[in-house]
Amino acid sequence: MDRKEAFRIFEETGALQNGHFLLTSGLHSPQYFQCALVLQYPHYLERFCSEIREYFYEEEDIQLIVAPAIGGITVAQELARQLGIRFIFAEREGEELILRRGFHIDPHEKILIVEDVITTGGSVREIIDIVERAKGYAVGIGAIVDRSDSLVDFGMPLFATVQVKAVTYQADKCPLCSQKIPLVKPGSRKII
Ligand SMILES: [Zn+2]
Repeated sequence: MDRKEAFRIFEETGALQNGHFLLTSGLHSPQYFQCALVLQYPHYLERFCSEIREYFYEEEDIQLIVAPAIGGITVAQELARQLGIRFIFAEREGEELILRRGFHIDPHEKILIVEDVITTGGSVREIIDIVERAKGYAVGIGAIVDRSDSLVDFGMPLFATVQVKAVTYQADKCPLCSQKIPLVKPGSRKII
């Protein structure tokens, strides 16, 4: 899938919206990206995941997919389905991502880490720590979208089906505020 096609799908599904948004970080942005709006359609989820699968095709014998909740779960499950292997997810308890529900990683298990959107890479780093503590072997990271502008180095291959650069402004230096364009909190449909 080329970049143009990916963007067409993001816009068609409402995943990529243009306007003036207040992000959870407090920054303002002319774009808002909500990956769940693409992945609510299984046929798109299947297409994006098959690209990740093809990229890591030469890594034979991947035995387990590990993802951070919540965004990574649907991606992990679909990839696990395509590869015919199991998947688990880590979820936040307080500040920390941990494996619950009896999920386990075996020593030397060959693992692919997945996420829906990589922004700062913080959750993925926590998953890498979980894998290392369990003495598993992570071969790489797969994601639907990389918003990090390729600034994150995880020490292993990262493949994202598409790069969507995040444009953000400090609230007091926002050109959209200067143009008096109404500020919207994504998801709420409310104008602030
Ligand atoms: Zn603004």
